[in-house]
Amino acid sequence: MNKTMIVGARIWDAGGSAAFDGDVLIEGNRVRAVSRVPGQIGQSGSQVIDGKGMTLMPGLVEGHAHLSFEGVTATEDLIAPPPEEHTLLTARVAKVLLDHGFTSAYGASAAKARLDVAVRNEVDAGRLPGPRIRAASLEITVTGGLGDESKTHNPRVGASLIADGPEEMRKAVRLSCRDGCDNIKLDVSGDPFYPSTPAHSTPMSFEEIRMAVDTAHSFGRKVNAHTRSIESIQNCLRAGVDVLYHCEYTDEKTLDMLEEARDRIFVAPTVSLFHTMLHEASPWVTPETARAMGIDRLLDASRKTHTELRKRGIRHVIGGDFGFAWSKQGTNARDIGFFIDYYGYSPADALRCATRNGGLQMTMGSTEKLGEIKEGFLADLLLVDGDPIADVSILLNPDRLAVIMKDGQIYKNTTAVAQRRAAA
Ligand SMILES: [Zn+2]
Repeated sequence: MNKTMIVGARIWDAGGSAAFDGDVLIEGNRVRAVSRVPGQIGQSGSQVIDGKGMTLMPGLVEGHAHLSFEGVTATEDLIAPPPEEHTLLTARVAKVLLDHGFTSAYGASAAKARLDVAVRNEVDAGRLPGPRIRAASLEITVTGGLGDESKTHNPRVGASLIADGPEEMRKAVRLSCRDGCDNIKLDVSGDPFYPSTPAHSTPMSFEEIRMAVDTAHSFGRKVNAHTRSIESIQNCLRAGVDVLYHCEYTDEKTLDMLEEARDRIFVAPTVSLFHTMLHEASPWVTPETARAMGIDRLLDASRKTHTELRKRGIRHVIGGDFGFAWSKQGTNARDIGFFIDYYGYSPADALRCATRNGGLQMTMGSTEKLGEIKEGFLADLLLVDGDPIADVSILLNPDRLAVIMKDGQIYKNTTAVAQRRAAA
């Protein structure tokens, strides 16, 4: 079996304790041993990587991945590309994420039915570079909801499935499962991009959500939901949705309900998209436009809600809505810094959201273990040139990712380069 030893690195295992010096043995696709005493594990038969002066940590997990979004400025960018080109685009994005240290991507939604599925299958077969992928479905919405841009006089094929009533919902979810999707995406609340269904509105009914969840779970799939409004969050929790996205608007009762479900659910605040719209002027969205859309109020609500949810022990995951022109794929690790700035996370706890929580999200419902450096865990590892706890922003620079290992396989190894820098 393929054996790799990483020796002499500072190990941050994401388990909650401080980093320590030690060695790690990887056998096949798993961490076989972790030693806190350097030199104790035998090296025979192993490829040895010298990690001196560097930090070994678990690979990053994008908890709300849109692998089929790249430089999006309007819904048309999701609809117009033919499936052939769009599949190549999706494969490109998968590689970009892995190049930036994301060894896992939990798909939020896909722009066409099988983009995530096809790329996941190629990556899993070892024919394309990319992270572990849980493939997302198209967004499922209701007539007039987020993602339905048709008008009575102008029916339009969108980047979503439209389902009205439980029976149509059952069919939409079954179609997505038949297509091979791992995660079913529901657009439950409205959104500031859609004037007729603002963020605090809730067009999808409880009965529709519950049917979607029951159907997806009967196939062994998971459900993630776009939930900005109070009613959408409460209905999704009651219906058994697995992953909640955004969750800006809450009240005391909603916070209590989220806390009650904290060992079952995962929550991604998806802060980057709105932060960049409001604070980083781009040719596409100015801060004035963002304020006119109410993005400043949404961000304020997000800060309040997710600071409180952090204190209540919610399993936050990073990522969210990267793939827009002003929130680019590859910069996904910016969310770690935003978790510190917006929600009061310590650097180590923000990094745990990006690793441990993401690993739990990727493997929920299975017996696999991912997201920490411990015996028996799947070997998705980064050897970082520097200390990411002291400065989380170094994770944004691929040159500082000296080793990227996924599933025990070395995808990248530039330790010689990194150590030359250390010596210089
Ligand atoms: Zn999204």
